[in-house]
Amino acid sequence: MTCDFLAQALPCVQKLSPYVPGKPVDELARELNLDPAGIIKLASNENPLGPSPKALAAIRAELPELTRYPDGNGFELKQRLAQCHGVQMNQITLGNGSNDVLDLIARAYLAPGLNAVFSQYAFAVYPISTQAVGATGKVVPARQWGHDLEAILAAIDADTRVVFLANPNNPTGTWFGPDALSAFLERVPENVLVVLDEAYIEYAEGEELPNGMSYLARHANLLVSRTFSKAYGLAALRVGYAVSSAQIADVLNRVRQPFNVNSLALVAACAALGDTDYLQEGRRVNAAGMRQIEQGLRELKLDWIPSRGNFIAVNFARDAAPINQALLKEGVIVRPIGGYGMPDFLRVSIGLEHENERFLQALRKVLAP
Ligand SMILES: *Cc1c(COP(=O)(O)O)cnc(C)c1O
Repeated sequence: MTCDFLAQALPCVQKLSPYVPGKPVDELARELNLDPAGIIKLASNENPLGPSPKALAAIRAELPELTRYPDGNGFELKQRLAQCHGVQMNQITLGNGSNDVLDLIARAYLAPGLNAVFSQYAFAVYPISTQAVGATGKVVPARQWGHDLEAILAAIDADTRVVFLANPNNPTGTWFGPDALSAFLERVPENVLVVLDEAYIEYAEGEELPNGMSYLARHANLLVSRTFSKAYGLAALRVGYAVSSAQIADVLNRVRQPFNVNSLALVAACAALGDTDYLQEGRRVNAAGMRQIEQGLRELKLDWIPSRGNFIAVNFARDAAPINQALLKEGVIVRPIGGYGMPDFLRVSIGLEHENERFLQALRKVLAP
């Protein structure tokens, strides 16, 4: 008799569906026997510029130190982030990607019998982190694909400990403005931790979107999470962070692994934070690429959800899985989002001009009658 180790797992873990990442280039090359050099990946909202040269130089300089443990407190990165956001160092929690921070929140504040509230079509990690600790995810129906903040408020009950909000949201690209955020924070119960996930804010700030950092002083139950994976171009290194009250940061510090951010990530993040030219160029390329793709979609008479991120959800008004398969055969990887309950959509990350054109070309071919 062999033991059934699925049956042995906690019931909440048995019920989990694992996160489905974008297909790696090499995997598609193997599966369809394609040349990896000819494949383009617009599937994981990665920065198409490649990493900042300053980050690469910092990594090279750090390599001889790999035998040492990293700075478990991330002093230098926290110091720079504190300066950058006008907060104290003890308000910052570093994570192995911002997903790590979301997990820390769940472990510190959620348990069976408690719940977290988030929107339909919200980022897939919210339900995973919530369910992994046996808590319940309360899913609030979306409004025009975006967060219905009024309905989210109404869904909060005595067992709610956390609300997850993404602004802009992934995979929809939808957003809410400063007035909506203020009104929400004024009315949310003080004991409910509001996690404002700003993974894409660098692409969107100033465009009708609030900067969550400026609400921290007034709202002790607010936590703002950010990442170096998107606009800062360091997805592979896994580094993100949260800014909150010092008390919440102290709680999260108790449950995190001692060396959760590696030394290459720490130095690269510091360098990337100082490379404002890189950030500017990324914003410019993204804005131009968004216009380019929207124009191409318009010509194809396709609809999409307006987005403030570095990606766009395209509505094919029919099952998009066959279209995705056909695009893969053309060597173009985008993201199916049927798992989010959006089977008619594909999410396309904004790439460089020639990558966007390759995507549009492939799409024209695939949709041709
Ligand atoms: C990509 C993304 C993140 C970032 O995850 P990391 O773990 O920092 O790479 C967080 N939230 C949302 C909504 C995202 O799309």
